[in-house]
Amino acid sequence: MIPIQSLRGMNDILPDATPDWRFLETALAELLAEYGYREIRLPLLESTELFRRSIGEVTDIVEKEMYTFTDRNGDSVTLRPEGTAGCVRAAQQHGLLRDAVQRLWYRGPMFRHERPQKGRLRQFHQFGAEVFGLPGPDIDAEMLAMTDRLWCRLGLRDCLELELNSLGSSAARAAYRDALVGYLSRYRDELDADSQRRLGTNPLRILDSKVARTRELLADAPALHDYFDAESNEHFAQLRARLDAAGVRYRINPRLVRGLDYYGKTVFEWTSDRLGAQATACAGGRYDGLVEQLGGNPTPAIGFGIGLERLLLLLEATAAAPALDRGLPDAYLVVAEGVAGLPVAERLRDAVPGLRLLHHCGGGSLKSQLKRADRSGAALALILGEEEAASGTLTLKHLREERPQERLPLDRIAALLAGATATKRRAAAGAPQIATDHRMPHG
Ligand code: ATP
Ligand code: MG
Repeated sequence: MIPIQSLRGMNDILPDATPDWRFLETALAELLAEYGYREIRLPLLESTELFRRSIGEVTDIVEKEMYTFTDRNGDSVTLRPEGTAGCVRAAQQHGLLRDAVQRLWYRGPMFRHERPQKGRLRQFHQFGAEVFGLPGPDIDAEMLAMTDRLWCRLGLRDCLELELNSLGSSAARAAYRDALVGYLSRYRDELDADSQRRLGTNPLRILDSKVARTRELLADAPALHDYFDAESNEHFAQLRARLDAAGVRYRINPRLVRGLDYYGKTVFEWTSDRLGAQATACAGGRYDGLVEQLGGNPTPAIGFGIGLERLLLLLEATAAAPALDRGLPDAYLVVAEGVAGLPVAERLRDAVPGLRLLHHCGGGSLKSQLKRADRSGAALALILGEEEAASGTLTLKHLREERPQERLPLDRIAALLAGATATKRRAAAGAPQIATDHRMPHG
């Protein structure tokens, strides 16, 4: 029989890789907590209508990428392709938005039916943050400074660049929309098919087109910034001034529009030239209209999503990879035939909190058990033979150092293990702080 394989673009994360994931998740959760964000956990499955209404009908995600199916009740449901819509839905549903500022984060898998390739999967993982109730630009700047600090901490500051743009207020976009449609209509026949269709439905998305001829035509199109009202200009100017003052470097990219409909004013992407075609590791922006669009009271909001797979690719590509706690055992308990290992193992666990002890199960000769001990990565083997069992001792064998083995009473062994374990955990706990948080001054 042919063994069943995982679905294309849906990866297993194997035990050798999980320490990297845990490291990244811990670093992110700690940083977000330092800025006052609280975790929210959301369902993977939502009603399809939620994504249609928030992301927008005429977007790549809703048009071609969603995992949508009809459940047993005949309801249309969708595996979440992103986290913002569900977060807004939950915050609204549970009254978190009533006269309150909320700083929230979440993480987990997202699902998009795209062509799998490096940095592009069908089940991928995002870490997201959303802030509700603040019209900015102070929070916009703080959020960007926070992500900047994250890259510093991960040793990635030199391989990521912040691209920044403003989409203006909705009034500004409405005025611009007419001008853009007027201009592009003159070249309708030269546009690609997607863009022709979007001319009537969602013309701003054309700015995002990757088709060469369309891009050429766009070079002379009216510029969105020329249609900004005073408020749009002021918000963007204030944001830039705050970033300058905080020493957060950025590049203005007037072409940056983002692939979801709900954005307005501030939009940004952190991109890297080390990621190939999938260059964006973190993306987000302001979405002041979305809460109301989903049936809530008008609530200003801003957020971002980080693609964790892409961040891991970046960490792999840099020399700054931290020394991770790989979850190796501290000690391996070797047990002679006919001797009860479990009571000894349990006594050691009682005496040494946090001890990672692999208790040999499955029998076998002492020699073969010692081979396993070595392969486990443990630093020490603890040998429980008949004599040791009779005298309340263990024989301690150093597996990574040339040192004579010695037989010691159980409490001496426990004291030794406690010391060694504490030292190791301290070193590992320090690992995420591989770089200082120092930020280069602007310019
Ligand atoms: P892209 O332009 O690469 O398709 P996007 O604009 O569709 O990205 P967003 O919806 O903004 O992506 O999602 C935020 C982040 O999630 C992206 O910047 C990226 O790091 C990550 N991401 C998005 N889609 C995928 C995917 N299919 N596989 C892996 N990571 C992804
Ligand atoms: Mg995409």
